[in-house]
Amino acid sequence: MEKDIFCRIIDGEIPCHKLYEDDDVLAFLDISQVTKGHALVVSKKHYDNFLSIPQEEMHKVMDVAQKIGQVDIKFLGARGVNILTNCYEAAGQTVMHFHVHVIPRYEGKEGFILEMKGNEEKLNLPAIAEKVKINLK
Ligand SMILES: [Zn+2]
Repeated sequence: MEKDIFCRIIDGEIPCHKLYEDDDVLAFLDISQVTKGHALVVSKKHYDNFLSIPQEEMHKVMDVAQKIGQVDIKFLGARGVNILTNCYEAAGQTVMHFHVHVIPRYEGKEGFILEMKGNEEKLNLPAIAEKVKINLK
């Protein structure tokens, strides 16, 4: 079976803007930023989705998602955060490797998906990643 994109990122075959990493969990900026700081948190071991990952490992992923959400509010200027995960294609899951989206929400323009789409190159992803990373410690 061909490796999915997250397995390839975990294996270091594809670069990412890393936010956090331990033995079980990897967090990085979503390359198609829905909003500034849009992060993905994935289990290093491959599971299809939230419904199939063992509870203990799911908890580790959710712990990191919670911390990133807290950092988004405290240090990135977000006013709110969406933390969500899609299970199976019918629910909008596009990569069949368990991942949790952490999407900061802001006042005004930065909160709107349409404003951000196509403007990804204007975002300084390394700088955003750095800001989240240092505050996660
Ligand atoms: Zn995978």
